[in-house]
This record gives sequence, C-alpha cells and structure tokens, in this order.
Amino acid sequence: MSIEVRHIRKTFGNFVALDDVSLDLPTGELVALLGPSGSGKTSLLRIIAGLEPPDAGEVHFDREEATNRSARERKVGFVFQHYALFKHMTVFENVAFGLRVRPRATRPPPAAITAKVNELLKLVQLEWAGERYPSQLSGGQRQRIALARALAVEPRVLLLDEPFGALDAKVREELRRWLRRLHDELHITSIFVTHDQEEALELANRVVVLHNGKIEQIGTPDELYHSPATPFVYNFLGNVNLFHGRIEDGQVYIRGTSLPANGGQPDLAHANGKDAMVYVRPHLLDMNLRPIVKGAFAATVRHINAAGPKVKVELTSQWGDPVQVEIDHDRLRELQLEPGVEVYLSPRENRVFVYQI
Ligand code: ATP
Repeated sequence: MSIEVRHIRKTFGNFVALDDVSLDLPTGELVALLGPSGSGKTSLLRIIAGLEPPDAGEVHFDREEATNRSARERKVGFVFQHYALFKHMTVFENVAFGLRVRPRATRPPPAAITAKVNELLKLVQLEWAGERYPSQLSGGQRQRIALARALAVEPRVLLLDEPFGALDAKVREELRRWLRRLHDELHITSIFVTHDQEEALELANRVVVLHNGKIEQIGTPDELYHSPATPFVYNFLGNVNLFHGRIEDGQVYIRGTSLPANGGQPDLAHANGKDAMVYVRPHLLDMNLRPIVKGAFAATVRHINAAGPKVKVELTSQWGDPVQVEIDHDRLRELQLEPGVEVYLSPRENRVFVYQI
C-alpha cells in the first residue's frame, strides 16, 4: 500500500510540531523517520496511523483520502517502544487478541485463529513460547511478540515507534537484521521512528530526516550519507569535523589555508567573500608527519584510542579547534603516533556549505 502525506501541519498550542510536511512512500518500502528528540517523528507517525488528527493537510492510502478514517479503518498495525503486551495473557493469547475481538461476522473460527497464531509465532521464531507469560520472556523476545501481534490482523501498513529503543545495543542489532529479513519476506509498507542514525541507515530503504517539524531530506541511506543536503543532515549522520571557512577566488580557505577543490561542491565562484562551513568526516582526513599535500594543516595529537577496527585519534588543530581522525592500525604503526606529536592533516574529501547571507 502506498502512502502519501500532503502538507501536514500540527500544532500544540502555539508550538508548531509539524510544519507543511509532505511525503510520498511507494508500496512495500521500509521507511525510517529519523530526527532528534522533539523533531516531530512520533506526531507524524500518529497522524499517518489515524491516532491523531492533523490541523491541516491530508493523508492518502493507495491514492484514497484517509485523513478522516480511524486507525482501525486504515488497517494499520503498531509496535511501540514499551512492549504493550497484556501481562495477564499468555503469549499465544496476546497474539490472538486482535482476531478474537473482531466482530462476529469477520472473526475467524477458533481453529483458524490457532493456525494463524502458530504461523506467526513461527515467523518470529518463538513457536516454543506460546504458553509463557510476557514476564517470562526477554525484552527482545517480547518485542518480537509485539510484532507478531501487530501482524495477526493482517495490517496494510506496519508502524513502529522506536521499536527497539528500550533494548541493549547487541539485542537491538540482532532485531534490526531480523526485522529487515522479515520485511523482505512480507513486503508490508512499514514506517519506523528512530533517533538512531545507524539504525535508520542500516535498516531502511528510505530515510526521512526531520528537524524542528520540517523535512530536511528524504533519500536512500547512501544518498543521505554521501550527498547530505544540509549541514544538519551531515552533522546528524555520523561524526564530523567542522571548520569555519571563507570563499575567495572560488576556493575555500580555512584561516588562510586553501583546501583543494573537491567534486560535488556548490559553484563556489559565485560565493566569493562569503563565509562557509567545511565538514570533513574523521575517516576522510589523511595524516602525515610532514606537509606533503597542498592544503594540509598542522595538528597536535592529544589522545589515541586503538580499541576497535579503526584507530580514533583526537587532535587539536593549529587554530586550536578539536579534530577527530580515524586511521588504520597499520598507519598508526607507520606514523608511530603518541600524544604530543605534531602531524599534518589534509581532507581527502570535504563538503562545503556556504552561508546564504
Ligand atoms: P522523541 O524522539 O523525543 O519521541 P519526536 O521527534 O517523536 O521526539 P514528537 O513526539 O512528535 O517528537 O513531538 C514533537 C514536539 O511536539 C515536541 O516538542 C513535543 O513536546 C510536542 N508535543 C507532542 N505531543 C504533544 C502534546 N500532546 N501536547 C503538547 N506538546 C506536544
């Protein structure tokens, strides 16, 4: 089922939670609504679900207007952060619940309900847990049951609000991979809310970045990571170093040092005399013991963390700004780095945003 959101506005008193938000989601996609706390993710999800009316704008399901339809009429399934399972019911009864409360005319016969629940428990790999109570399961298992329960009523859309938010990092990772596989199998149009950029980039086909109630960018994880449309997106998707620069003669200067030209930049010739922000990801800064590259600047090593697949080096630039660089372990050995050593850094790739003043 495709979902179209048109010019949605939502206010709480004087506060604008969503400001003219429009989205077009094709059938079968797995979409992440990503943004910091308070950016409007949950409000948007609730409006798509039919749990909250917008002040203005429309929601269309399969090109039909659904703005005034209830959640039940829209046939959406939900999974929330805090596994809202019924504590006094077994896992089996929890999954069966949505089918048992159907009006008599559409309620499947008991044998069909049993078959359906068993099929769903198998799908979430918890067929052995039917007779247990939620309190006898781990957090990750409960979240899989919550998903089975949401799927029981055969929703046309699946909406998940920080579904793994309350779980520890390792379980989150497992469940992410598991949800991805499940989605590949079922192809239900699914939208999940997260403030975790890694989760969004790993799991979604498409990511919607929200900031202050507006959409900053919509794109595939690749597009967002490699071609961020705004400084906010660049900053939000992973570690970055930020340098204040200035455009002169079509080039970027950071306090007198010119950076080499870089593909995919805005046309800097039109921005002469303007201030700019230069963003460089830590793994895109080369490190040498001498200034052998044009545009290299000096920095002093402060701290080295080698406990990981990459070595994280914290430095202070010649201008006194903190800088983070990621290098390979081999490179660390070649350079024989230690705190206090002076090195030269040169961006292999950077992204310049010119202040539109
Ligand atoms: P989080 O990640 O913290 O859940 P979010 O991006 O999901 O944040 P929303 O829950 O959509 O954000 O809230 C957006 C803004 O609207 C917030 O500033 C919030 O305080 C405000 N807000 C949400 N619901 C209400 C409400 N019922 N009454 C008043 N303000 C609200």
